[in-house]
Amino acid sequence: MPFDPKQRPPLDRVRDADLIILGSGASGLTAALTALLAGLRVVVLEKAPHFGGTTARSSGTAWVPNNRMMRNEGITGDDERAATYLEGLVGNRGPRRPWQAFLDTAPRMQADLADRAEIAFRPMPAAPDYRPEIDGAGSGWRPLEPLPFDGRKLGGYFDLLAPPIPELTVFGGMMVTRAEAGQLVHAEKSLRAMMLGARLTGRYVRDRLKYKRGTRLVMGNGLVARLLHEVLKRGGLVYEDVTVTGLNTDDGEAVTGVSYQRDGKAGALNAARGVVLAGGGYPSSQAWRARELPTPTPDHSPAAPFACGTTIELALAIGATLGAPGLDNGLWFPSSLRKRADGSLAVFPHIALDRAKPGGIIVNQRGRRFANEALSYHDFVRAMYAANDDEPCIPAWIIGDRRFLRRYGMGIIRPRTPFLKPYLADGYLKYGATVEELAAKIDVPAEELQKTIQRFNGFVRSGVDEDFSRGSTIYQRSNGDPAQEPNPCIGTVGETQLYAVELHPTPLGTSRGLSASIDGEVLRETGDPIPGLYVCGNDMQSCFAGEYPGAGAQIGMGMTFGWRVARCTADRT
Ligand SMILES: Cc1cc2nc3c(=O)[nH]c(=O)nc-3n(C[C@H](O)[C@H](O)[C@H](O)COP(=O)(O)OP(=O)(O)OC[C@H]3O[C@@H](n4cnc5c(N)ncnc54)[C@H](O)[C@@H]3O)c2cc1C
Repeated sequence: MPFDPKQRPPLDRVRDADLIILGSGASGLTAALTALLAGLRVVVLEKAPHFGGTTARSSGTAWVPNNRMMRNEGITGDDERAATYLEGLVGNRGPRRPWQAFLDTAPRMQADLADRAEIAFRPMPAAPDYRPEIDGAGSGWRPLEPLPFDGRKLGGYFDLLAPPIPELTVFGGMMVTRAEAGQLVHAEKSLRAMMLGARLTGRYVRDRLKYKRGTRLVMGNGLVARLLHEVLKRGGLVYEDVTVTGLNTDDGEAVTGVSYQRDGKAGALNAARGVVLAGGGYPSSQAWRARELPTPTPDHSPAAPFACGTTIELALAIGATLGAPGLDNGLWFPSSLRKRADGSLAVFPHIALDRAKPGGIIVNQRGRRFANEALSYHDFVRAMYAANDDEPCIPAWIIGDRRFLRRYGMGIIRPRTPFLKPYLADGYLKYGATVEELAAKIDVPAEELQKTIQRFNGFVRSGVDEDFSRGSTIYQRSNGDPAQEPNPCIGTVGETQLYAVELHPTPLGTSRGLSASIDGEVLRETGDPIPGLYVCGNDMQSCFAGEYPGAGAQIGMGMTFGWRVARCTADRT
């Protein structure tokens, strides 16, 4: 029988659950699924009109060191290497216990959900960790990519699944993986790529006869769809559009359930084992951003719109406390902004496709480079903030010539986009026939920009960036162009026909969250747990103390602690 949200019991008829979970991203749904596997009755309440949160917009990669797939390949000892890495990365910025719990649990979580449910990933053997200069960093295999999922299996719930960021899809609704996108760009050069394009497009066209978007779901959308499917299969109840107004307690002590509003009606739901907060942190709240993130306060985020800290506020209202502040409490993408035809704003993350490619540079408002453009997105934005103390770097500009734009694209503009006019017309893309002309368009000193380009071009032959060491690590080079020698990240920036796109720091998530035990028990300032209250995902204090070890660190962490929380509640009698 296909799943049908109309067949759900109305929420106001559901009075009791074992576990109530607030939030339906990867963390909340992992907690839900794990609790269902343990035989608990689970209700997921989602504030947004759609399920999936930021996870549904993400690449869906999960960082799982020492995972079973690596061990099956004969790669052993990764637990120790990863511990050395996290020791070096986190250092004294955060305690060891939480990240050690992550390392001990993540491979068990992944194997358990693969064996007992259909949560399927494949390894990414060529995805190095983000800080290869630190001892113990991996050169691949730790990041796992979710397998595609057929959205049709969700029945009527498919329409309730949050869509991906449209600019990350083809034709505004067809999803492709990063590897597929890479193949499709050069489709005319290979029969295999051409056939892939034909197959994907054929499926998409058929889908569109019946559905609002493609049903072949990949990346984060595929991951949450898969989790949701497994939750529904096991009788989990999930409700969208629910505003939880308070956590109910037993004489102000143990959390016993929630009060909520839905369809204009107030209700209450009891939880025998507890309530799990999985609201995705506060990347989308201007008030929280102003309070917790560095200045200038970012005005935009590519994260889900309801990841606004309201779950954290519910906990703070009954005596919970935030963890220690980190370096900047944010997890970052440099993003460009563009108004869509419907008036909404596209916040497009420059993850890896353009910044590290040869022939481009990023300059500040003085026309000077200020950082290694090939750093991870998180570290690049941190460098942007640090450099902004000396010279205005927010916003900054990514610059490349026509060849660069055509070959690699820039932000929303894909490689080999034939018509640039719309992007130029709305100001997303700036153009200058000469350096001087571009400098005037982006309001940076022309002489300085000229000097910057010439100095950078002086590094091309040797491949050594004497200023910022661009392309000096395996991670940075993995995002360059292997055809460029000697350094895949350093190529000549032309001095005519130049283009630029403006870049802003935008939080993809937040790292300062509720103080919690390694089982996700929410703690008071005294360090005592609030009975019946749990947390996971971005709502929880980051076990990496705000550092970003590698691709998938957020989802890996969220799923791992979601799994731990559910097992902890299930073990309690
Ligand atoms: C474009 C993009 C790509 C990314 N790619 C990756 C990646 O590949 N790997 C990775 O590790 N990280 C990635 N990230 C970051 C990652 O997606 C998030 O950090 C992670 O998904 C957060 O998971 P979560 O479960 O904590 O929150 P979410 O997935 O945001 O889910 C939280 C849910 O809680 C709901 N909610 C909020 N408040 C309430 C409330 N009061 N009551 C009920 N529900 C509430 C929200 O509406 C939301 O649906 C990416 C982020 C972006 C923007």
